[in-house]
Amino acid sequence: MLYRTLGRTNLNTSVFTLGGMRWIDGWNEPYHEISDETLKQACEVTKHCLDKGINHIETARAYGKSEFIFGKVFNLLSIKKNNLIVTTKVRLKDSETVYSQILESLERLQINYVNIVDIHGINNDLDYNKVFSKDGTLKGLQKARKEGLVKHIGFSTHGPLDLILKTIITGEFDVVNLHYYFTFQTNYPAISLANALKMGVFIISPNDKGGMLYKPSQKLLNLCNPLHPIVFNNRFLLEDHGIHTISLGITKTEMLNIHLESIQNKNTNSSNSVRDEPFMGKLERDIKLKLEKELNNTPDYCTICGFCLPCPVKINIPEVLRLRNLFIAFDMKEFAVKRYNEMKPDDPWVTGESADKCVNCNECLPRCPQRLTIPSLLKNTHKLFKNAITKY
Ligand code: SF4
Ligand code: SF4
Repeated sequence: MLYRTLGRTNLNTSVFTLGGMRWIDGWNEPYHEISDETLKQACEVTKHCLDKGINHIETARAYGKSEFIFGKVFNLLSIKKNNLIVTTKVRLKDSETVYSQILESLERLQINYVNIVDIHGINNDLDYNKVFSKDGTLKGLQKARKEGLVKHIGFSTHGPLDLILKTIITGEFDVVNLHYYFTFQTNYPAISLANALKMGVFIISPNDKGGMLYKPSQKLLNLCNPLHPIVFNNRFLLEDHGIHTISLGITKTEMLNIHLESIQNKNTNSSNSVRDEPFMGKLERDIKLKLEKELNNTPDYCTICGFCLPCPVKINIPEVLRLRNLFIAFDMKEFAVKRYNEMKPDDPWVTGESADKCVNCNECLPRCPQRLTIPSLLKNTHKLFKNAITKY
């Protein structure tokens, strides 16, 4: 396994983190009741990951049974807390509620403290204000940290880049959990700023929200050949030493193999032999060029610069057109349609109005450096995705 220092937490974390939100039956209430089947799965996966050197586990109060499951797993496997880094997350509540929820999380996890507690989803200005208000979320976490229940405080986000930068620059957080992958590089400035402030950088959902890479299109497979897209994406991320750990939603032991392959030396099959060469060697750089060429050749390619925003009817133009890029360039139809369907104007996690709601105000047109005919492009993209829906 390869380890990196998680910014100013000084925790030596494995570059892969076991994410705990995808257990069988993991979202069914009551959350404290864990079936034998779920427990068996969680024990097997956790043991395998730990045996292979993973030392960071990520859970959250909002992940259904997850904290309860890990509590039982730690006991059953006799895992010593000192050998493990545990991150959990709390939703945005007032300081008192959040403090009592941390006590509950510790009870569920059956541990005395968590290494890191993240505020789960600072996704818009409303969330930001809740965190920093007089009796807001941060105050409750700071109290818990003062009492040693929590060692470090971080935040996760699905929000826009300007909000992420604004949150990082407060200097209140030791770790940021954010989206960044080959297929979505908009948040790179946030990684740079976090690095400048010596924060830990944790990449979330690289294989699912990074493009459902566990079931890639044939075209993406061909473009990444001889690497699997997951291996390419991992190496793309790990080339950057400002990225410290990557979340993996492993639900079967064998799912870890492809990730271990990402960090192995070229000339050995031993999982103990960690890569001692650049992650982006000639092979990976050539694949990256092929992928970029394909993207750039997309008719009406959107660079996702975001200059067209804001849209008065709240269409998330760059995100819709990013999904269109991926649909056309890499044939990532299922992923694009799924993400598009999840977008709702007031959903803080995947924000945006449906593209067919464009009212042709044309405000976005002069702001687009690519001179794209955005209104017609959006309407055509909506049709493209809706016609594909029958299949996905
Ligand atoms: S033309 Fe359509 S997409 Fe552009 S700003 Fe107006 S409503 Fe939004
Ligand atoms: S301004 Fe043009 S290129 Fe930039 S995100 Fe908007 S549509 Fe895409």
